[in-house]
Amino acid sequence: MPGPAPIYLDNHATTRVDPRVVEAMLPLLTETYGNAGSTMHAFGWAAKEAVEAARASIAAAIGARPKEIVFTSGATESNNLAIYGIARHGRRRGDHIVSATTEHPSVLGPLERLAAEGREVTLLPVVEAPSDEAGRLLPEQVAAALRPDTCLVSVMLANNEIGAIQPIEEIGRLCRAAGVPLHCDATQAVGKVPVDTERLQVDLMSFSGHKIYGPKGVGALYVRRASPPLRLQSLIDGGGQEGGLRSGTLNTPGIVGLARALELCLAEMPQEMERLRALRDRLFRNLASSVPGVVLNGPTLSRPELRLPGNLNVSFAGIDGESLLLSCKDLALSSGAACSSANPEPSHVLRALGLGPDLVRGSVRFGLGRFNTEEEADFAVETLRGAVDRLRRMGGAGP
Ligand code: PMP
Repeated sequence: MPGPAPIYLDNHATTRVDPRVVEAMLPLLTETYGNAGSTMHAFGWAAKEAVEAARASIAAAIGARPKEIVFTSGATESNNLAIYGIARHGRRRGDHIVSATTEHPSVLGPLERLAAEGREVTLLPVVEAPSDEAGRLLPEQVAAALRPDTCLVSVMLANNEIGAIQPIEEIGRLCRAAGVPLHCDATQAVGKVPVDTERLQVDLMSFSGHKIYGPKGVGALYVRRASPPLRLQSLIDGGGQEGGLRSGTLNTPGIVGLARALELCLAEMPQEMERLRALRDRLFRNLASSVPGVVLNGPTLSRPELRLPGNLNVSFAGIDGESLLLSCKDLALSSGAACSSANPEPSHVLRALGLGPDLVRGSVRFGLGRFNTEEEADFAVETLRGAVDRLRRMGGAGP
């Protein structure tokens, strides 16, 4: 008989689908199963209607217009579409791209490939630890990096490892003034903190269903309808769906699920932000007071505007994070970024903060979410305290 399921504290990696989202999706699988591209019958019309209602709802949730939403398979694809789309369009204004060292691999990967193809990429550093603003990209760095041939700036809204919230509004203002399109990977922020494309002055913005209690395999790219229009080259060609930017039969259940997930996040956001912050602060307080050698990674917890409410990232001095998590089978946590767990390299985000190898190795990321309780946070502290004790008594940091 398997034991009780571990406590899930890895909500930056992915989230459980909210039962209310499942309920909204089911009719799209069983009844309204038409192809939204079928224009000759009622099944197609109904599917199209569901997609357009979802598009309108998602657009409204982020201060956009329905025409500005392109559905994709997730934020990885959205990031790729934004970056390659701008860089490979023949009518871009130059070959220079500005981004930051702490971006997600789905931004850094395309940038690396473009650099290998001869484009020039400037990766800006972030504020190093120790600082209340550790992990922040300073807008003046972006201002100094802009050049007449800069064709794109790409900066994330919230970091998936340390929860650092970037000053996108200020960066947006700078980019708008310079006439340079700004792409923002808002995957960890949409649905968690207020996000409005007008206020942020972004031109392209990526997000995903499975980080917000929606399904996996669906996401969106916001593409601002600007004048002069932003020109993107598509990644996937075929039937010309999504205005030719993303061919392929629309994932109707996923799209309806994404819209419902976002609606629920918005309706519950003010209370949920408060609740998660309190839960996160309690977790850190109890960890710091019961386990010696706990170091907070990333921005201070005392300035809520600098950090995602549900994010905590700590290092246990002298401990190997992976050994620690493997000895805590009752907890589902991540050391470094789960998204890049196929890649055993130490976290590029923590290294960008200037942390030494010991603290990078000893890092653990908590992603608290909708279904987590105080009891679970307290249980996590007890479990980690015991495991750290055992590892330290064994003399060890593990492998
Ligand atoms: N960007 C960030 C900041 C993320 O955290 C993730 C998911 N780990 C992605 C992009 C990729 O999202 P998806 O899984 O939807 O492709």
